[in-house]
Amino acid sequence: MLNKEVISYLSLGSNMKNKIYFILSGLKEINSLEETEVLEISSFYETEPWGLKEQENFYNIVAKIRTKLPPLILLKKLQEIEKKLLRERIIKWGPRTLDIDIIFYGNLNLNLKELTIPHKRFSQRNFVLKPLLELCKDRNLNKFLKKDCGKIDKIIPKVGVSSCLLGKNTKYNGGNNKNKFILMIGKKIKFIDVCPETFGKLECPRSPSEIKNGKVYSREGKDVTEEFNLGSSLTLNVLKKNEINTVILKAKSPSCGYGLIYDGTFSGNLIEGNGVTSDLLMKNGIDIISI
Ligand code: ADP
Ligand code: MG
Repeated sequence: MLNKEVISYLSLGSNMKNKIYFILSGLKEINSLEETEVLEISSFYETEPWGLKEQENFYNIVAKIRTKLPPLILLKKLQEIEKKLLRERIIKWGPRTLDIDIIFYGNLNLNLKELTIPHKRFSQRNFVLKPLLELCKDRNLNKFLKKDCGKIDKIIPKVGVSSCLLGKNTKYNGGNNKNKFILMIGKKIKFIDVCPETFGKLECPRSPSEIKNGKVYSREGKDVTEEFNLGSSLTLNVLKKNEINTVILKAKSPSCGYGLIYDGTFSGNLIEGNGVTSDLLMKNGIDIISI
């Protein structure tokens, strides 16, 4: 049975480790759910902890999504994403890597043990209301805003990104990997774009390259390891100079691939492994999101 498409608003919060990394990873996972797309995100807000005070500040955003997933399935999928991103559900209202709540689901009103829509406490929480108001102007939500609800500051996180994902023509074939999701989140983030191949002075267009036995070769067998190494160390420098610890990199490339790369035979086969740059960034404590 085909379900109707619905506009839903989700609240995402993190107050552990690399909070920007967890929120962006959560958004990427939500955007990858079947029949679901993240249409727009709010600004990022830094918030004093609510409930249990002795913990780190939270980062919070709201995302507007369209989905055909029924509400209970959506909840289950969101809980799987929280789990995948290592949420530790130990203390009620305690620290968490990522919390995703369903605020609205179309005009649905639901009151089940496991799911209440609209979210039971959303109107008591400025850290939900403020970002929500940016995206959802037709529900008269202003009236709920509290005057003394702790400090909530808008922030603009700095994040690294592969130049090709922004639409710059740096790909081996002279093209790019322009990505709608990346451009959408880029409206609320300061992106510093990096391209290890360009930094390593490789031509564009150029012959494709793959990694074999720890070295990088072009399809014609030219050893381009040195260029890839130069590109990776310059990428690390740029990110360090900008105090960036989160980067979104193009999947599968011999520089930016993360977790999976081509096997060196130029036949489209993928194997476990990291690109040259991803490997260096990872060893330097930079968190990578692969797109
Ligand atoms: P909170 O989000 O209030 O800080 P949790 O994320 O630990 O706390 O929520 C606990 C439970 O809340 C979940 O197991 C879920 O079943 C239930 N729940 C009820 N309504 C919702 C909703 N609208 N969105 C997300 N979870 C909800
Ligand atoms: Mg929750």
